[in-house]
Amino acid sequence: MAQLGVLQKPAEPANQSKYSVELKHVKKSYGTNGETEIYADLTFQLLKGTFVALVGPIGSGKTTMVNMFAGLERPTSGTIIVLGQDLTRMDEDSLAAFRASAIGLVPQVQTLIPELTVYENVELPLHFAKVDERSRRDKVDKVLERVGIRGEADKGVAKLSVGEKQMVSFARALVNDPPILLMDEPTEALDPLMSEVVLGLLRGDNMTEGRTIFVTTHDKRVTDLARRTLRVNKKIP
Ligand code: ADP
Ligand code: MG
Repeated sequence: MAQLGVLQKPAEPANQSKYSVELKHVKKSYGTNGETEIYADLTFQLLKGTFVALVGPIGSGKTTMVNMFAGLERPTSGTIIVLGQDLTRMDEDSLAAFRASAIGLVPQVQTLIPELTVYENVELPLHFAKVDERSRRDKVDKVLERVGIRGEADKGVAKLSVGEKQMVSFARALVNDPPILLMDEPTEALDPLMSEVVLGLLRGDNMTEGRTIFVTTHDKRVTDLARRTLRVNKKIP
């Protein structure tokens, strides 16, 4: 006999926290004996959907911070919780899978693969996230359109200008619609016109997509867009 089923409510999402990133007593040093101390004891949170900028002189630890949020760099001690998951308890494979689904990263130094086309570079994270082919094509087309480089899809990235490469990097970070977008000095290498394009994208993205955005920068136009600006000072050895 057929029964009128009660629709199962979806399981409660694991992460009910209002924070996307939480640092608890994070210490970070480099060197075999930990001689280069970057952060001594950091505790702070990023609200979901916020846009936070991090400023500070060269060598103050901005890239280190971005890499810790992305699980690319582990803290020396303390806890980093991203979307409810404790990154410090995850092994490398879990971290890679987590990154593929949760984090869009625009690194300070280009990591595009020069032998591949724009399309293939942007598609890469979707392979890691095991997205099927049809959805991959949809997502790549859509994001290339959005950042204004759909016409360049079949070009090799080696042939692109610095600004165009930055847009490819941006597209690659956004293609899987990650809840967190990390950008490491995204406008610093760009001419004024290209950086305006990136700023426009950032502004629109934060307002319409509700993504958490964390950007390191020296650019006042970026800090003007951000809701909060954190500052790191360089330790004098
Ligand atoms: P920023 O992005 O603010 O310029 P970084 O986070 O790149 O600063 O670096 C902070 C400090 O840590 C620098 O003094 C840098 O030389 C050092 N550092 C960064 N990565 C490493 C590493 N893998 N090994 C040793 N020292 C490092
Ligand atoms: Mg840096």
